[in-house]
Amino acid sequence: MNSKALLSHYKLRVTNSRCTILEIFMDAEAALSEYNIEKQLEGQCDRVTIYRTLKTFLDNGIVHKVLDEGNIVKYAVCGTNCEPALHNHEHVHFKCQTCGDTICLDNIPIQNIKLPNGYTKKEANLLILGTCGKCNN
Ligand SMILES: [Zn+2]
Ligand SMILES: [Zn+2]
Ligand SMILES: [Zn+2]
Repeated sequence: MNSKALLSHYKLRVTNSRCTILEIFMDAEAALSEYNIEKQLEGQCDRVTIYRTLKTFLDNGIVHKVLDEGNIVKYAVCGTNCEPALHNHEHVHFKCQTCGDTICLDNIPIQNIKLPNGYTKKEANLLILGTCGKCNN
């Protein structure tokens, strides 16, 4: 699916900046921070547009948050099973300490962790630090 079709699929208005930012995500091999996107856009969009676009994508199940080390938040494209207000995936994220990439390991689910009585889970995040396959070669 191309960026236009994907936006239409989620019933979002197709704008140039939405298409461009979505294409950056679709081409990316690793999760992207707001700063990464801003750099790739080379001034095509201002920061407010980037911020709003990311929020729209997040709210509509197009991208999900990837918690990186420290306070950096990155974003990555969701699979096809996410819907507005319902992100439907809990997979492991991997941060390579050599190249700095943070990657979605879509096929590796987070194990079900038993919580104490009275606790309810909303979402789970698991970040594994180490060296990725590319850097280990
Ligand atoms: Zn999602
Ligand atoms: Zn690496
Ligand atoms: Zn992910």
